[in-house]
Amino acid sequence: MFTPLPDKPDHPALELEMLDVWEREETFRQLRERNRGGPRWSFIDGPVTANKTLPVHTAWGRTLKDVFQRYKALRGFDQRYQNGFDCQGLWIEVAVERELGLNSKREIEDYGLERFAHKCRELVVWSSAELTRGSIRLGQWMDWGRDYYTFSDTNIEYIWKFLKLVNERGWLYKGHRSTEWCPRCGTSLSQHELSQAGVYQDRSDPSLFVRFPLLDRPGEYVVVWTTTPWTLPANVAAAVHPEKEYGRRENGEWVAVELFPDDRFVERLRGEQMVGWRYRGPFDDLAPGASVDHRIIPWDDVTMDQGTGIVHIAPGAGSEDFELSKTHDLPVLMPVDESGRFYDNYGWLHGLSTLEAADQIIGRLGETGFLVEAGLYNHAYPHCWRCDTPLIFRLSDDWFISVDEIRPKLLEENAKVEWVPEYMGKRMDDWLRNMGDWNISRRRYYGLPLPFYPCACGHLNVVGSKTELRERATEGFEQLEELRRPWVDRVPIRCEECGEIVQRILDVGDVWLDAGIVPFSTLGWENPELVPEGFGTGAARGLTTADLPDHSYWEQWFPADWVSEMREQIRLWFYSQFFMSCVLVGTSPYKRVLGYEKMLDERGREMHGSWGNMIKADEAFTRMGADVMRWQYCAQPPDRNLLFGFGPAHEIKRKLLTFWNSVKFLVDYGNIEGFTPSWDRLEPDVERRALDDWLVERTRLLVADATGAYEATLTVNVVRSFESFVDDVSNWYIRRSRRRFYSFDDAAFRTLWYALVQSLRVVAPVMPFLADHLWRNLVQDGPASVHLAPWPEVVEPDRGLLAEIAEVRRVVELGRQARSASQLKLRQPLRRLVVAGASASAHGHSAEIADELRVKDVEFGEVEASELRVKPNLPVLGPKLGPALRDVRELLQRGEFEELEDGRFQVNGHVLEPSEVLVERVGREGWAVASEGGVTVALDSRLDEELLLEGRLLDRVHEVNVLRKETGLEITDRIKLWVPDQELIDRYAERLAAETLAVSVEAGDLRIEKA
Ligand SMILES: [Zn+2]
Ligand SMILES: [Zn+2]
Repeated sequence: MFTPLPDKPDHPALELEMLDVWEREETFRQLRERNRGGPRWSFIDGPVTANKTLPVHTAWGRTLKDVFQRYKALRGFDQRYQNGFDCQGLWIEVAVERELGLNSKREIEDYGLERFAHKCRELVVWSSAELTRGSIRLGQWMDWGRDYYTFSDTNIEYIWKFLKLVNERGWLYKGHRSTEWCPRCGTSLSQHELSQAGVYQDRSDPSLFVRFPLLDRPGEYVVVWTTTPWTLPANVAAAVHPEKEYGRRENGEWVAVELFPDDRFVERLRGEQMVGWRYRGPFDDLAPGASVDHRIIPWDDVTMDQGTGIVHIAPGAGSEDFELSKTHDLPVLMPVDESGRFYDNYGWLHGLSTLEAADQIIGRLGETGFLVEAGLYNHAYPHCWRCDTPLIFRLSDDWFISVDEIRPKLLEENAKVEWVPEYMGKRMDDWLRNMGDWNISRRRYYGLPLPFYPCACGHLNVVGSKTELRERATEGFEQLEELRRPWVDRVPIRCEECGEIVQRILDVGDVWLDAGIVPFSTLGWENPELVPEGFGTGAARGLTTADLPDHSYWEQWFPADWVSEMREQIRLWFYSQFFMSCVLVGTSPYKRVLGYEKMLDERGREMHGSWGNMIKADEAFTRMGADVMRWQYCAQPPDRNLLFGFGPAHEIKRKLLTFWNSVKFLVDYGNIEGFTPSWDRLEPDVERRALDDWLVERTRLLVADATGAYEATLTVNVVRSFESFVDDVSNWYIRRSRRRFYSFDDAAFRTLWYALVQSLRVVAPVMPFLADHLWRNLVQDGPASVHLAPWPEVVEPDRGLLAEIAEVRRVVELGRQARSASQLKLRQPLRRLVVAGASASAHGHSAEIADELRVKDVEFGEVEASELRVKPNLPVLGPKLGPALRDVRELLQRGEFEELEDGRFQVNGHVLEPSEVLVERVGREGWAVASEGGVTVALDSRLDEELLLEGRLLDRVHEVNVLRKETGLEITDRIKLWVPDQELIDRYAERLAAETLAVSVEAGDLRIEKA
């Protein structure tokens, strides 16, 4: 007996039940044990930042990871299943700052770095537990409890080792340059951090036209344009394009002619003729400006798309400006400090932030006559990815890894990686070609301590391990709680060159170093012997039992066969591990990548906590269920943004309900008829009908298609093939075989059971809960869980047969369209259907077609019952035909065309493909016509007495069966039936009785009685 199923699945409830069952039966452990020693498939998990509960966009990535790990496990692959947490850096710090109400670096230092570090660790402990809970609820199978934490001393030591090597190769240097700077976080950001989602946000800034009086040309000015007023007090030069023409307006203002084509100019010069002119700066009343000899310089990169064609240059507050200062030997004024506030030598501006200063600067410019015009300007402006503060440019001393020497190697290795979708590999290639040196230092607290100890003698000491630190420490090693600030700052070492005592720089490292080292640190690269629980070091102590494996383990599991993350990771994790791997061992750390685009809400907007459209994973688990979430993720083509929400979830539930109903149909009738399937006889090895053969082949097609889709790492194709299979099972096989189930037809039961069981097997990685729930009901003598059944054998299906039935289904579908166009209900029998253009294989199925469409006769032949109207499909045909389109269009309209085979048409020598035309068949009087892709059906919609009477019969049958259901009768109960229609009883008593399970039919008011 099968367990009866309710009318629809309660996804969340059955999922919680499955979680219990898996835990009780240790299903995952059994699976791993079964695969142990099998072929290896190496997946390396990109760490999730441990500063939050599970968000739905993270659940997307986790689902994809889980789907492919499950698929590979079903195919017998041995896997590692190690989950990772990212535990350091600004993500963690900013979350803790918010929690503690701290708002500047000063406040963090006052709070105490030791306490702050403990608070950061607490956040990671809480969040990693939450993320684990959410991921388990999602159905993700990982080796929970043996996770890697990037803040472990072990992970940090691996990065130290990497940095030491980089230094030995001569690629490590300290740079002085202008970088994007977050004034709130008080640190520079690197190029790749700016590529993260949400960094560029639209904002409105002041738009200022400002004029600088020329010292040697009284009454004349150069006009510049800026959207960052705070940079004007740092102005030292104005740049013109040497080749372009500039003009002087009557009021003495010089601007580029090209940008003001309607202005009248009284004098014109080429930019190069203006070079060297000196001018008075806008804030020469302040000490820094007063010391500068402002002049005009040439610059080929001056653009003529906006502004005045004369560019304000402030090398202390702009990146290109800083580069120009080197070429032209310009002074560099640094107006603001680490927190973005003006230094005290800026007089009345002292202490103001760059934003606060804007209004006062504009006011002053107005008073002094420098301001020409002030307005507002909307643009996409970079913001700190962590705290949302608008970024500024600031000069900073940062540590860099020079990339030029290794760049060719990176490009060469990336070309070997298989990227899905392919364009993401191209993005990676672009990035690798164009990226600048890697800025690895951050002026922060809770992060990887950079092991750099520069000495006054000029030598840079780089420590490569904790052991080395101990050996070289002059004091403080014993108080080293973790390899982290503040403890590590109290451990000076001796310079290996001169023997002097040297201190570590205070900077911490870019978080992408933490995640990038993972393919080495977690796999035990160059580690002589296994250290049990060796990843539970430093801050990770007590959080994980993960071992630090030995080098032979790394050799087995490196490189990863597959990694998968969101597209923005191209410049982040995909990049950092790739870079580190090429440096350490000269190869890519992964062979294959699945990237995917962004998640938006179901209306296509970004999800924001403050917009109220953010969905919490817990809410989604309760309101849609994990399987439905997973379905939504998997149905998404990776090259497009996912519009996630409850609306799409509703649609998915509807589709899954069709599947559920097919299973329920088998369960209900199987129980009535005592059907007992057997796992040992999976394929229906009984005498089958043609339709059964078809379903067997259709099932083989599903297995083949789904397998191909998993191999191509495209879940969207798994979902599509499953959905079309469900439609075929429900709307063809069951529909066409219903009666066979009412009268125990073993072949029908066995075939349907086989099809459903096979489909559960291939869909299990995508929706593990529902698949296992139904499996345990349908397969009672086989593997206890669908996740323990091996992958179904892939057998090439009989594609000829499948194409034949697909053609029949197409004819039926067109017949339905024609019927609905005729506005006759499907229960009304009709006389005749004519089918034209269908392939010969459909001809043998006229009985089925007639039955499905309730017509007496199906003929194959010419459809004369219609007029053919052909119009050009303009978006397609326009580009193909060009000017010839007009002619073709006219000829089509006049009906002067020839119909070719396969839905093509010939017009005046042009052959038009089916996709290039819109074909409409219009029924003649009494005929309903539908047409698609060269197949046309025409339905004779004329009714006669005979047909009307039969229509009445079928209406009655329907009515009675509704009544049966309403009265609560079992599907097998027999009835006595009274109907008020004597003519029907005379003609159709037997059919009426058969189709309503009546033992007697008599005249009277419509009613039924249990017999
Ligand atoms: Zn910030
Ligand atoms: Zn020294």
